[in-house]
Amino acid sequence: MTALTAPQFTNEAAAIAHLEASRWADGVSCPHCGSVNVHRMGGETQKGMFLCNDCRDKFTARTGTVMERSHIPVHKWLLAIHLMNASKKGMSAHQLHRMLGITYKSAWFLAHRIREAMRDDKPAGMGGAGHQVQADETYYGNTSKRAKHYRKGHSHKSGVVALVNPATGEARAFQVESATTETVRDILYTNVHRASTLVTDESNLYKYTGKSYRQHETVIHTGREYVNKDGYTTNNVENFFGIFKKGMVGVYHFCGEQHLQRYLNEFAFRYTHRSGLGVSDNERAALALKGIEGKRLTYRRPN
Ligand SMILES: [Zn+2]
Repeated sequence: MTALTAPQFTNEAAAIAHLEASRWADGVSCPHCGSVNVHRMGGETQKGMFLCNDCRDKFTARTGTVMERSHIPVHKWLLAIHLMNASKKGMSAHQLHRMLGITYKSAWFLAHRIREAMRDDKPAGMGGAGHQVQADETYYGNTSKRAKHYRKGHSHKSGVVALVNPATGEARAFQVESATTETVRDILYTNVHRASTLVTDESNLYKYTGKSYRQHETVIHTGREYVNKDGYTTNNVENFFGIFKKGMVGVYHFCGEQHLQRYLNEFAFRYTHRSGLGVSDNERAALALKGIEGKRLTYRRPN
């Protein structure tokens, strides 16, 4: 594991060099027009700045990434990315605020931008021939009676549908208003390869859509059957929900429904690239850093 005192976390020039190397491993290209006909500008005030010889635009390694227009130095971004990826359950804005010496509001924005970087925006189909994909749904919401807008029952919580391929370890999770045959169908059709074996519990939600897959295995939980007669389980997807819920209670103390999908992206990212699959904290952070490009944020309010 990289020490938190490593140069890219403490020195701004080293941090910029680290960011440039991550973003432009094959050489610098202009974020505006894609040209590689660029040059580094001289001068103290133009540190980290490039000029495109084709479109004449100026840019830095932050341009066109979630770091653009942020006043937080690159070394603090890199440290935040590392911290959020090195802790299994994530890191709250309060912790980041204290560890990075930035305001709580800045830490909150930073964390949500990093969650965007952890979102896979070009996902390929999950599973395929010879693979199984486990699907399950749960409900998420703050059930504390002291919570703002407290209402009783499942119908007032957000639904979450998650998919896990136990062979590759890949996880995806989606916020839905409520889990219905239609919402489940749309998620499965857009994400799971039809040649896969779908594994779910006995819920009616998956019965119809399950017919579109090569095979549909069900595990009967109401009958205390955790492994069906052919050896299939939904343990992996339940394990993902377990980690997500523990993290949301212990670290994040719940979140508003409008932010839930970003937290789901964060947990799915860490699960997909978890240490149990041989991914180190450094490698996971490096993958998150690769995801900073091409993601724009539209929300503003920190609560
Ligand atoms: Zn250009």
